[in-house]
Amino acid sequence: MAEAILTVLGSGSRGNALHLEHRGVALLVDAGLSAKQLEMRMEETGAAGAQLLGVVLTHEHGDHCAGLKTFLKKRKVPVYASHGTKDALEPHVATAEWRSFEAGTQLEIGAFRVETFPVPHDAAEPIGLRVTAGTTRIGLISDLGFVTRLVVERLKGCAALVLSRTTTRRCCGRRKRDRGRSNSGSRPGTVTFPTGLRPSWWRRWREWS
Ligand SMILES: [Zn+2]
Repeated sequence: MAEAILTVLGSGSRGNALHLEHRGVALLVDAGLSAKQLEMRMEETGAAGAQLLGVVLTHEHGDHCAGLKTFLKKRKVPVYASHGTKDALEPHVATAEWRSFEAGTQLEIGAFRVETFPVPHDAAEPIGLRVTAGTTRIGLISDLGFVTRLVVERLKGCAALVLSRTTTRRCCGRRKRDRGRSNSGSRPGTVTFPTGLRPSWWRRWREWS
């Protein structure tokens, strides 16, 4: 049996959701697709067969949580989110079983160890994740504004990495860009590392991709 099965149910501005399965149990990371699409894609990929332990949210933007409220009507599972993310979403998803924490907290959710860390993005308290399932470690980072030393540190030793960057976002009727340093010169969908921060393993991944 595979140590961990990672399924990308959706990615990009139309909705983000990842399903991570380990020995019959699973976590959903973000719920940015409609509940109908989430269920359909989990069924199509075989992910629906695992027992879902909870939903972990990276941040509150609609493309990461649009389907959450409806999804929870059928799936009575807890929602793990930073305090900032929970505070932003709670008025809209008040019935959720919230388990909130400070960015940087390590969670134990069933067989999964979920290490959270703050990432730069225009959201209330966005987090990146390093999830350990058995002996497999996977890095999950969404909408990364720019690469920080902490991000590089947390991604060390990961067997797989799902990473997306952000460019501009329509928010509250106007376009916003993540403050501070950005990767604005790079291609959409790619992440560049500032001089001196690029880890040795990055080149190998680039060569593989
Ligand atoms: Zn975002």
